[in-house]
Amino acid sequence: MAKKDQIVIIGGGLQGLASAYVLMSRGEEVLILERDSDVASSASFANAGMLTPSQSMPWNSPSDIFQILSGFGKKDSPMSVSALTLPSHFFWGLKFLRNSTPSRFDSITRNLYQLGLYSKEKTQNLRKKFRLSYDESTQGTVKIYRNQKKFEQAISLQKRIFENSKSMEILDREQISALEPQLNEIKDELSGGMYFPNDEVGDAYKFCKSLEDLIRNNGGRILTNTNINKILINKGKVNCIVTDRAILQTNRVVVCAGSWSRDLLKKIRINLPVRPVKGYSLTYETAGLNDKPNYAIVDESIHTAITPFNNRIRIAGSAEFVGFNNEIHPKRIEYLNNMLHNIYPNLYSKINKNEGKIWCFSITSSVIYF
Ligand SMILES: Cc1cc2nc3c(=O)[nH]c(=O)nc-3n(C[C@H](O)[C@H](O)[C@H](O)COP(=O)(O)OP(=O)(O)OC[C@H]3O[C@@H](n4cnc5c(N)ncnc54)[C@H](O)[C@@H]3O)c2cc1C
Repeated sequence: MAKKDQIVIIGGGLQGLASAYVLMSRGEEVLILERDSDVASSASFANAGMLTPSQSMPWNSPSDIFQILSGFGKKDSPMSVSALTLPSHFFWGLKFLRNSTPSRFDSITRNLYQLGLYSKEKTQNLRKKFRLSYDESTQGTVKIYRNQKKFEQAISLQKRIFENSKSMEILDREQISALEPQLNEIKDELSGGMYFPNDEVGDAYKFCKSLEDLIRNNGGRILTNTNINKILINKGKVNCIVTDRAILQTNRVVVCAGSWSRDLLKKIRINLPVRPVKGYSLTYETAGLNDKPNYAIVDESIHTAITPFNNRIRIAGSAEFVGFNNEIHPKRIEYLNNMLHNIYPNLYSKINKNEGKIWCFSITSSVIYF
């Protein structure tokens, strides 16, 4: 039975665990309810690990919208949409388009950038305070461009939005290869790049497990294997929540159920303007290999990231608007392998392809109003 004044958090991913930690540090009692047998086994499990305010651009620029539409029904395009989801996405899609004007794009990007800086600062504080270790790297990230026009557009976008910020350096191909020698092999194919010295990366799952320890060791409770079926409301206020084990009385609930938050909240007539979008990652062991890259690399034009974590390398990307669907299509594995091959041909040739760990998950894509 939950105590009436404690805060119940639905979902034990990055959001639920981070919210629990912050609430505890403000003196609140928390109870996290997670339906899986482990925390962070959904969208927070094998993501690209980027803690990068530099990646603040939402996916609603004209080139992203073009990429989504031109990937219709395809499995080897960086972004795609399935015909089956079109009816359920119709009105949401209209709202999405209404929020995709150039001025909305700019203001959303600026706001996401501030949110990213805030999130990074909180993560840094936590890491330093508790000496957390999660395969983090604080040396920054690099974006590369193979198309001169796109490179120039990206520079003018950066300058327009981040005006006086010193958080970006423009690099020519020689400077890229000096910074990340593993990119020397493809140097001649690049138009240029950008270095973001303030970005960080780290393994989200390991970070979540550290948060889990912190929460449990400081008196917070986490119940796994507990599915929430419903939130019950009485006179406009939360009264209790119905789990598959019991009914818990509580007045305070934080919903951090990732892509499923919409369904939970719909039952109490709260309409979250989000839809699931499926992304993939492929992780290889790199222990014992030479020629490992140091920096996380982003190729923004195809929404692909390659992140080194100590003895692993992870390629993450693709955005499929296919509803809830965890099927892994072989073309997606091929696509991620091609990305690694295109960026690090030498490393790719040495990696044991039979030991790659493929993962996919649905995250929430939202119509952003702020
Ligand atoms: C391929 C890929 C790459 C990504 N790369 C990055 C990146 O580089 N940087 C970045 O910042 N983000 C990245 N993301 C996004 C990031 O992973 C997510 O935004 C983040 O993990 C979401 O955390 P969350 O806690 O909201 O959701 P989740 O981690 O999905 O947690 C929600 C939890 O709620 C639980 N739950 C749901 N319904 C119920 C219920 N009814 N009862 C009980 N429990 C319930 C689920 O089991 C789950 O554990 C990436 C995502 C993908 C798919």
